[in-house]
Amino acid sequence: MKIGFIGVGQMGRHMARNVMEAGYDLTIYDAVKEAAAPLLEKGAKWADTPKDMAQQCNVILSSLPTPQIVEEVVYGENGLLKGWKEGDIYVDMSTNSPSLMRKIAEDAAKKGVTVLDGPVSGGVRGAEAGSLTIMVGGNANALEKVNKALMAMGQKVVRVGDVGCGNAAKLVNNLISLAINSISAEGFVLGVKAGIDPQVLLDIISTSTGENWCAKQYPKTTFVGNFEPGFKISLAYKDIGLALGLGEEYGVPLPVGDAVKKDLEDTIAAGYVDKGVDAVILPLEKAAGVEVRTSK
Ligand code: NAD
Repeated sequence: MKIGFIGVGQMGRHMARNVMEAGYDLTIYDAVKEAAAPLLEKGAKWADTPKDMAQQCNVILSSLPTPQIVEEVVYGENGLLKGWKEGDIYVDMSTNSPSLMRKIAEDAAKKGVTVLDGPVSGGVRGAEAGSLTIMVGGNANALEKVNKALMAMGQKVVRVGDVGCGNAAKLVNNLISLAINSISAEGFVLGVKAGIDPQVLLDIISTSTGENWCAKQYPKTTFVGNFEPGFKISLAYKDIGLALGLGEEYGVPLPVGDAVKKDLEDTIAAGYVDKGVDAVILPLEKAAGVEVRTSK
């Protein structure tokens, strides 16, 4: 099996390395060649375009920032569609639009190519450790063929349903986790303003009904003033837009989701678009005149 990997950024570089370390013949491509340098040094091959990659490989994986970029990689002048051969399999592992993935699957099927959507959860740390959860939509036989390669990147591969369902599951997860991220930020700013030490507050919450994954990250992020990504505000904003779009498509109102979108817009307007998602707390801290830090 010759595997190609497109997009070796925060997530993809670790995911591709895990595939290579599992013994697969790996070819990589990224719009920024420097991003690929560490993997090329470790023995990965380079493809000049997605089309070249599709001609050389029979399974292609991608981890790209936005639906627009996935669309360009597939349909562009030197896109995958120009190089794909009958029997090839494509798994897009980006957080992406379910309807775009259904369209790509339809167009690829005309060339005998099977498309799966396989977005991931677990963050950069999970990508590095090979412990991601991978939510797959699409043909079960194709999944069986690539399952071992996916398991090189994750500890759990779940088939959710037809193509697009992987992303629907991922968007539901991110709708929930981004809401928790925003409300945790509000709660901690309020708590500190009311005179509570942030570590004491975290200890209390961690054994109470407010327990959550986002606040548990604070000792490595907010408490020490580290807002480097991780999961960028720009990507969180993309995800909440996709989740709200899915709500509209199915006629499901998402009022808390709307509030999260506003929170992310305020964070972007304050200049933090490339910071990690914990940076939603920064405009709230400014408005309240406090900082949620344990180190001064
Ligand atoms: P990133 O911006 O760090 O990496 C994306 C990579 O794609 C970069 O190396 C970039 O150069 C490359 N790229 C951009 N345009 C390209 C093009 N036209 N052709 C080829 N390569 C191109 O993003 P990331 O944080 O690694 O996220 C990737 C995907 O995974 C996103 O869809 C994101 O929503 C999802 N995701 C991210 C996290 C996280 O914690 N970072 C967690 C789960 C899911």
